[in-house]
This record gives sequence, C-alpha cells and structure tokens, in this order.
Amino acid sequence: MTMEERIAQVRARIDAAARAAGRDPAEVILCAATKVQSSDTIRRAIAAGITVCGENRVQEMTAHLADDAYRGAALHFIGRLQTNKVRQVVGTAELIHSVDSEHLLLAIDRQAEKLGLRQDILIEVNIGGEQSKGGVDARGALALAEQAAALDHVRLRGLMAIPPPAARPEENRPFFVAMRQLFVDIRSKMDDNNAEFNCLSMGMSDDFEEAVAQGATLVRVGTALFGPRPAPAHL
Ligand SMILES: *Cc1c(COP(=O)(O)O)cnc(C)c1O
Repeated sequence: MTMEERIAQVRARIDAAARAAGRDPAEVILCAATKVQSSDTIRRAIAAGITVCGENRVQEMTAHLADDAYRGAALHFIGRLQTNKVRQVVGTAELIHSVDSEHLLLAIDRQAEKLGLRQDILIEVNIGGEQSKGGVDARGALALAEQAAALDHVRLRGLMAIPPPAARPEENRPFFVAMRQLFVDIRSKMDDNNAEFNCLSMGMSDDFEEAVAQGATLVRVGTALFGPRPAPAHL
C-alpha cells in the first residue's frame, strides 16, 4: 500500500468509528505523527490530505521548518517539552499537547507574552500512572487547568494522554473512558473559556478507533500512515 492509500484508509477508519459511536466524523482531527520522517514524506502526506502534523522533537521540527515542509498544514508539538526549548516552540506550533507542569506552563506563558500572542495548549495526563511517562495525574490536571485559566497568554484547549502500551486496543478503553470523564469534569468547572476547551487528544496507530469511540477529538497517528519507523540514524 502507498502512503497515500494508508492515509485514506486511516481517515476512513476514523470516520467509520465516529459514525458507529453516533458522532460526526468531522469532529475528529487526524494529526500525523511525523517523527523521523523526511521533509519530502511530510510534503507528500500534506498533498494527500493531511491537515495537521505533530512533531516530537524540537530539532526535527526546526529542520523541517527550514525546509518549509509543513506548508499547507497546521503544526502541533506533541512530544515532551523542556523549558529551555520553549522559545523554539511557542508561536511556532499552533498547539502544544504536552504541558505537564506549572514550571512549563509559566515558561510558555512568559514566552507568549514576549511575542504578544496567546499560545494554545493541552494538559498532558499520565492516565496509566506510569513512572516512565510525562503527564500529571487527574488531580494535578484540574489544578494545572485552574492555573492556566488564570494566565493571559495561554489558552487551554483541552487534554492529551498516551495510555500504556497494550496488547489489544480494548485494553485501553478504561483509560480513554477516564480521560473523557476528566475532560467533561474540567470543562464543567471552567466558566469563561468553556467553549474553547474542546480538544481531547488520544489514540495512536494501534488504538485510534477505540479512542474515537470513547470521545477523542484528535488522534495522533504515525506508523499506520507512514509504516514502521526506521531507527534514528544517530543511534
Ligand atoms: C509517535 C507518537 C504518536 C504516534 O505513534 P504511532 O504508534 O506510530 O501511531 C502519537 N503520539 C505521540 C506523542 C508520539 O510520540
């Protein structure tokens, strides 16, 4: 199968999963996780209908930007973000998915203030409680959401999660259900910018249909679009 065919197939599977859940497929954004892909591959993906690219690493993102590889698509930052790289991402990525500490939140707000803009962000939730992963727990998410709501230069758009690796997609259902519940809870506690809190980023190649069934509004898909990732050259 060509990449173009895989993109069409993933989109069709998202649409079918949404309809089966009684949802409008237009509510679900497909974000292509482009890590380790070349600028040419990214251009081809955009030509084939990809409208959002998600990058993990600031260095790769910067290289692709220099190539103008994302032209025609929105750019999201989906990887872990160190405070010392905030400058390269704020104002460049339309949405930062991975805000998981007060320290990072404040650094983003300060940089956005410097640039005179408002940065869209998601709070990353470590819904599986895994040691190895970034993200806050459910209580931490509520606290961080309240802090974000009080800042002038960030706009809290929703939540993101990466559940633990699972042997079968159904295994992650409880995590997706818990995320949806947390999303609804936090939204109900936000008064002013309630309508802007509309993004629930969850689901990857192995489980995006399950995530859509449970309420994802954005899925981040890499392997199912681009094929297995080659090992990075520098390793
Ligand atoms: C790589 C990556 C994805 C996509 O993973 P696949 O299993 O290849 O679909 C999604 N989200 C994040 C944060 C990623 O780093």
